[in-house]
Amino acid sequence: MRLVLLGPPGAGKGTQARHLVERFGAPLIATGDIFRSNVAEGTELGRLAKAYLDAGELVPDEVTIGMVMQAIDQAPGGFVLDGFPRNIRQAEALEAELGARNAPLSAALAFLVDEETAVKRIAGRRTCADCQRPYNVFFDPPRAEGVCDACGGPLLQRTDEDEPTVRRRLEVYRESTAPLLKFYSDRGLLREVDAEGTEAEVTERVLSALADLA
Ligand code: AMP
Repeated sequence: MRLVLLGPPGAGKGTQARHLVERFGAPLIATGDIFRSNVAEGTELGRLAKAYLDAGELVPDEVTIGMVMQAIDQAPGGFVLDGFPRNIRQAEALEAELGARNAPLSAALAFLVDEETAVKRIAGRRTCADCQRPYNVFFDPPRAEGVCDACGGPLLQRTDEDEPTVRRRLEVYRESTAPLLKFYSDRGLLREVDAEGTEAEVTERVLSALADLA
């Protein structure tokens, strides 16, 4: 299984990715997570990426493509990619690199969601600092405010989740990433799921959209 997840911030890709990883046993490669952990650890990559993340802009392609291919080469059994590709240039690079490895994509799964739903999902989002479990204060709150149900860790809001940055991220999605739906549709790889509704409803749609790839 070599899968790409597409959709605006707030579409629920990260949440559903956890179910896909469990179902298909392929590792998750989430570029946003890789950048954030590099920022937290103060690596050279993190220092380079931080200003882009804080502004809601894309990290330069040269940096991002190399980072992703390194992760893919450590996942010979396949992968679930969340957050990459984010523009046509990244998609073309991925296609060429996978072609050279004789390991083409199985599918690109697009999450379709209303923009205002997406904004609410992001503004309400909190993540456990210790185990990274995600919550949403509107749709999926923790039992105790600010505390992770699973491990008791503190729940944090991402620094790029204030409203102006979220609006900018959605704009970047519309301009740079949305054209990838046509890119993958032209290649017969696109599958679309309605990403409105509860986490369980979306999971069911996601799994049935990919049932033939199991
Ligand atoms: P995400 O967690 O996927 O929403 O990503 C958070 C931020 O990481 C984005 O707003 C970008 O600044 C950066 N980022 C993640 N994936 C990519 C990518 N494929 N290309 C460039 N920047 C990215």
